[in-house]
Amino acid sequence: MNEYIGIDIGGTKISVIRGDAAGNILEKKKFATKTKDETLKEIFEGVSELMNEHVTSIGVSCGGPLNSKTGVILGPPNLPGWDEVPITDMLTETFGIPAYLKNDADACAVAEWKFGAGKGTENMIFLTFGTGIGAGLILNGRLYEGSTGMAGETGHLRLFETGHIGHGKAGSFEGYVSGGGIAQYGKGTAKELGKRAAEGDPEALALWNEIGENLGKLLAILIDLFNPEAIVIGSIYARAGEYMKAGMEAVIEKEALPGNVKACRILPAGLGEKIGDIAALSVAMHTK
Ligand code: BGC
Repeated sequence: MNEYIGIDIGGTKISVIRGDAAGNILEKKKFATKTKDETLKEIFEGVSELMNEHVTSIGVSCGGPLNSKTGVILGPPNLPGWDEVPITDMLTETFGIPAYLKNDADACAVAEWKFGAGKGTENMIFLTFGTGIGAGLILNGRLYEGSTGMAGETGHLRLFETGHIGHGKAGSFEGYVSGGGIAQYGKGTAKELGKRAAEGDPEALALWNEIGENLGKLLAILIDLFNPEAIVIGSIYARAGEYMKAGMEAVIEKEALPGNVKACRILPAGLGEKIGDIAALSVAMHTK
């Protein structure tokens, strides 16, 4: 059976995995994101260690902006210094097999659509809600990447006139609705705030409600723009969605068209912690 190597490059952690066409993870290496050069070195060493004669292609799932057609990473806000990295050419030159690159939100959208919470839908959106926030769009039963693979850069959209910095822009959604954005409230990381909310801490609960309201503003835009059947949300929402739900739903109801709201289910990612691995493998399989 063919095997594949998937590389999931996040702002906080990197995974390199070897898996098969059924989505089984056979071997995995995980490490923290460091400087560009250190991280690339660890990625290439990881791929070398996992490589065998059954591996037919390599897939890279990475936060954007990036060009999925040319395979070049174009300076993602959560990967400082990765300004023009031709990652697929570099991998193919070193390992002699085809390599593909996709935005992480797009790769996760395909994974959730094929195997997770979005199964069976024609129109669904996947929203990453980790270090950054980006959208993957499944429209009319296929992934919509835009003309250069940069559709769905929701973190760059404006929420407030000014304020927290996200995506290099003060007041952007990424400055509020993302791991990096949550930290800018100065009350701790998303993980710490989740722990405090679980203990019933009123300050943490009020902050999660506010984050939920901001998330609701983004969802209302996506709901009215695309009229999807489902919006599936990963990472922080999958872990702390219960604390954001009330604020999020109130804003969606207020902002979006009732018919569009009724048609759309908001769901936590169904693949749980495995989502990034399966997404990277499906990039390697070049699933359309
Ligand atoms: C990037 C998106 C990405 C998201 C999650 C954002 O900063 O611009 O492309 O999907 O982070 O990693």
